[in-house]
Amino acid sequence: MSGHDGDCLSPGIQAYVDKNNAYLAQRSKYIREVVKKWKFDTIAVHGLYTVQDAIEDYQGAIIEPVFMSSSQAYRDTDEMEAALAYLIPTWCYSRIANPSTYYYEWVLALLEGYGFDGETSCCSTSSGMAAIMTAVQPFLVHAEQHVHEERNFLATAQCYGGTFQQFSIRLMDERGIECRWIEDPTDIDEWARKIDRNTRFLYGELPSNPQLGFFDIAQVADLAHSHNLPLIVDNTVATPALLRPICHGADIVVQSATKTLTSSGFGMAGAVISRAGITTNIDNPKMRENFANYVKFLPNRDMGPNLHPVQAVMTLNDMRTLRSKIDLMSRSTMKVAKFLRDHPRVESVEYLGLPEHPLHELASRYLWLVDAEYDEQYGRPVNRYGHLMGFCIKGGAEKARVFFDGLQRIWRATDLGRIKSVATIPAISTHQQQGEEGRKLAHIPPNLVRLCVGGEHPDDIIADLDHALARLTPRSTVSMAGSG
Ligand SMILES: *Cc1c(COP(=O)(O)O)cnc(C)c1O
Repeated sequence: MSGHDGDCLSPGIQAYVDKNNAYLAQRSKYIREVVKKWKFDTIAVHGLYTVQDAIEDYQGAIIEPVFMSSSQAYRDTDEMEAALAYLIPTWCYSRIANPSTYYYEWVLALLEGYGFDGETSCCSTSSGMAAIMTAVQPFLVHAEQHVHEERNFLATAQCYGGTFQQFSIRLMDERGIECRWIEDPTDIDEWARKIDRNTRFLYGELPSNPQLGFFDIAQVADLAHSHNLPLIVDNTVATPALLRPICHGADIVVQSATKTLTSSGFGMAGAVISRAGITTNIDNPKMRENFANYVKFLPNRDMGPNLHPVQAVMTLNDMRTLRSKIDLMSRSTMKVAKFLRDHPRVESVEYLGLPEHPLHELASRYLWLVDAEYDEQYGRPVNRYGHLMGFCIKGGAEKARVFFDGLQRIWRATDLGRIKSVATIPAISTHQQQGEEGRKLAHIPPNLVRLCVGGEHPDDIIADLDHALARLTPRSTVSMAGSG
């Protein structure tokens, strides 16, 4: 939490507040004068954990320690009282905060705020869905207590299946909060038309999972702000290595850190990252000033969707090499996309990196490999389009299943962002529950295969795809049937 002036505190408490304000000022200075000047990779590797911290407090441990402790003890009454009033930096109890989750939050706040001229903060959550819940709930409160007014929000219809369920079932059906789906997010007039005086926020996912929907973030953020509303962006697929929505005007970013940020696949994690001073029509100064801190210390303290410290350090460990992994996976995905595009058994390929993709030009304005200009290999800005692609198999759902069952190296799993290549059929997995209508709205045909290319050599992935596609040619169906 931020420092406190403390106008009428007892001398004992005031002493703790002063000491901690001095510590916070020193940390801000360190961030401003040292960390903010580092390149992306250095921030990802070190975050705010310093050699000095390690030597003085943690036996010299070069990796951030895991604090497997439910709670924090205090020196005396004054310190305890100051801590529980949030007058001094504290972690109290691991549902509220924990030193290990702080390391993770600081790194993510800095990575999503890389290149942004302002402060960012982060609140960790137990999953991406918890992050979305954490980000949207504070805007859905009743403006006046016990008044049941109409509330609505806008969201891109092309979004993760779980998000579709949270918005359409949990919020709309069960709580009567209207979600107005945006069918074409590149049409700014559709966004504008759907905003009214009861709108609370705008929500967009890009590139969307799995259809690779995209929109002009700056344009939608400007529209939101002109109505005194925040823009919330799900940046899971691009990751801060390719896109930092806050730099383009977004107020809040959500991450399913379970995905690419934890590419090893070691567990579940999420995060909400916000800029200092978000735009909102909700009258709550604390929330407006520092949204991530607000949700961390108040709503999430009471709701409990917190992250485990072991998971925080495991995800942190994976994030250190984010930039180079995203670069490798993006380049391999491009190669795979070109192979599939030219294959006679493939009906269509969707990858934002292909020049013929209708959103290629728009995506190219936003998706850049961070710090490529400082990379010896590139020395200039380069576009990278991520590791997510989709393609449709000729001959419909049945053929798609035959192909899918023939994959041998690529894992059949509902997952993405892994160091191992993974494929799924969204219509029977991520988007199964939203029904035919919902799938149509989200552009999910039954023969769509979603593929996430990992860290393997792309030629081996292409060979696996080629082999599985060969099962679709009438001549070889029989001979190949037993091999998949
Ligand atoms: C997976 C995913 C989520 C949900 O995250 P979990 O960590 O699985 O809860 C949200 N958004 C996107 C884009 C996702 O891919």
